[in-house]
Amino acid sequence: MDNYQVLIGLEMHCEISETKTKVFSSAKNGYSDTPNSYIRPLDMAFPGTLPVVNKEAVALALKASMILHCSQPEYLYFERKNYYYPDLPKGYQITQETKPAPVGSFGYLDFDCKGETKRVRINNIHLEEDAASSDHYPTFSTIDYNRAGVPLLELVTEPDMHSAEEAVAFLETMRSIYQYAGISEADSRKGQIRCDVNVSIMEKDKDPSDPKNWGTKVEMKNVNSFGGVRDAINYEIDRQIALKEDGTYDEMEQQTRRWDEDTFSTIYMRSKADAIDYKYFVEPNIPKFKISESWLESIRASIPELASERKEKYMNEYNLSEYDSTILVKEKAISDFYEEVISLGGEAKGAANWLTSVILGYLNKEELEMKDLYLTPKMLVDLMNMVRDGKISSKQSKQVLSKVLEDKKEPSVIVEELGMKQIGDDKTIRDIVVKVLDEHPDLIEDHRKGKNTFDFFVGQVMKATRGQANPSLTADIIREEIDKR
Ligand code: ADP
Ligand code: MG
Repeated sequence: MDNYQVLIGLEMHCEISETKTKVFSSAKNGYSDTPNSYIRPLDMAFPGTLPVVNKEAVALALKASMILHCSQPEYLYFERKNYYYPDLPKGYQITQETKPAPVGSFGYLDFDCKGETKRVRINNIHLEEDAASSDHYPTFSTIDYNRAGVPLLELVTEPDMHSAEEAVAFLETMRSIYQYAGISEADSRKGQIRCDVNVSIMEKDKDPSDPKNWGTKVEMKNVNSFGGVRDAINYEIDRQIALKEDGTYDEMEQQTRRWDEDTFSTIYMRSKADAIDYKYFVEPNIPKFKISESWLESIRASIPELASERKEKYMNEYNLSEYDSTILVKEKAISDFYEEVISLGGEAKGAANWLTSVILGYLNKEELEMKDLYLTPKMLVDLMNMVRDGKISSKQSKQVLSKVLEDKKEPSVIVEELGMKQIGDDKTIRDIVVKVLDEHPDLIEDHRKGKNTFDFFVGQVMKATRGQANPSLTADIIREEIDKR
C-alpha cells in the first residue's frame, strides 16, 4: 500500500423523489406495494405516446447543479441512449450527455472527512429516467413499471477521492444535500441511491493531476449501499495491489466488475474495451427549451440552508461542540426538530443535550426514526420550561421524558400523574432544613472544621421531600441556616 496511491471516481444515481409525477409522464412518482399501479401508457412505451418534460424535476435537477457549483446550460437538451432491456421497453433511455450539455457541468463539492475538508471536482450532473424493475423467479420473471420514468439524477465525479472513507464521506454529504434541498429522500434502503464505483491505483511518487499517470480503471456497477461501496473499494485496492506485486497489473484491461456481498469480493463481468455503442442522439420528441435567467434566479433563491451551514450556525451562534453539531445535522429530520425547538424559545445548549443524549439514544435503542417519535418540539420546550421555572428538578425531567416516550402522554400530564411538582417554596424547605440541622449539631461542627457533611444535609432534605425539594434552593437555605447558628 505504501508504494501506491488510489484514485476513485464515483457515478452516483439518486432518484428525485420529491416531484408529484414522473419525469416524462403524468403517472405518480412514488412507491406502491401494488406493481404496475403508478403507470401511464408512456411508461410502457405504447405506440403514439410522447414525453412531456416535468418542469418540477428539471427545477430540482438545476437546484442540485447550483449547489454543486456547476454551470447550467442555456438550453435544456435530452439525448437518447439506445439499448434494449426488458425493463426499458422503448429500446432507449432518455438521458443527457456531456455534449451538448447536461443540467450541470464542471463544479465541485467540499466535504468533511475525519475533520479535514476535501474537494472533489464534479464532471457533470444529468437528469434521466429510471428504468422499470424486474424480479426473477425460478421459472418466470415479473416486471413492475412503477419505477419506469421516475426522475433520476446521475452525478459523475472526477477521480479525486483516494480512500474508501473519502468516497463514503462524499456520498453521505451528497445524501444530506439531496435531503436538505428537498430533492430526494435519498434512502438507499428504498433503492433510491445506486453507485458505480471506479477504482485504480498508481505509483505514489507520480503526479495524480496528470491523467497520463493514472492506472487502468476498474468499474463496479450498481453498488447499492454505502457499506458496500466501502467494502468494494477496499477489496479492489488489495486486489489491484496484488496484481502490481505480481507484475500483471499492466496487462489488466479496463473492465466492469460487480460487488458480491455473499463472497465479499468483486467479480469480473465484462471488458469495458468492447463497450457497446449507445448511438446517442438528441431526443427529437422534446422541443428545444430555453432556460431563462429569471427561472434560474428563482431556483437559486429556493436553495435552503444546508447541513454544512446549519452546522456552522450551531457552532458559532449556539456554541455547541463540533461533535454535537455534527450529530444534529446528520439527519435532516433531527436538525428540523432542533430548529423548531429553538424557534419555540428552547434554550440552544439544553435542547442539544436532550437531543444528542436522551432522544437519539432512545430512537437508536428502539430502532425508531424521528418521524415515529411521539415527542414534539413543543413538548420538549414545555419540559425544559418546567425545569427552568423550578416546577420539577432536572433529575425528575429525565424521568418525565422517558414516561412521555413510553406512555405517549404530554409532559404536564405525566408530571401530574407522578405527583412530581418540585417544592420551590422557601418556607416549606426552610422548616425542614431547620429540623434537620437541629437533629445534627455535631455534624454542623464537623462542617465548620472542613469535613464534608453538607451533602448529608441535602440528602436528608431530599429524603424528607421525596426528592421534590429544589436542589439549588435547598443548598442556599442550608448555607444560610448554618451561618445563622
Ligand atoms: P467512461 O467513458 O468509461 O464512462 P469516464 O471518463 O466517463 O469513463 O469516467 C467514468 C468515471 O470513472 C468517472 O467517475 C471518473 O472519475 C472515473 N475514472 C476515470 N478514470 C479513472 C481512473 N483511472 N481511476 C479511477 N476512476 C477513474
Ligand atoms: Mg462516461
